[in-house]
Amino acid sequence: MKLLFDLHTHTLASGHAYSSLKENIEAARDKGLLAMGTSDHAKSIPGACGPLFFKNYKIIRNEIMGVRIYKGIEANIMDRKGTLDVPEGLLKTLDYVIASLHLPA
Ligand SMILES: [Zn+2]
Repeated sequence: MKLLFDLHTHTLASGHAYSSLKENIEAARDKGLLAMGTSDHAKSIPGACGPLFFKNYKIIRNEIMGVRIYKGIEANIMDRKGTLDVPEGLLKTLDYVIASLHLPA
């Protein structure tokens, strides 16, 4: 099976990975992926990026090194109602959202 994209990646910016966004894009290019999403964790996990980090996604081009870049977030589900730890206004600026359950959150 050939993978076409990877939408669940993290970067050094959150402290939850060991590679930069550029290194992730290079890896996606080298694997022949058509697209890659960057989805650092939302604020409720210690060390995660704040809202400004995600608001600044607009400076990242939509295609880099021949790879389509999607700008997302891995939000934390905070309660049984499914409340996320990302403000609605920020969610609207992103290409996609991963909703996860993480124990630290
Ligand atoms: Zn993750």
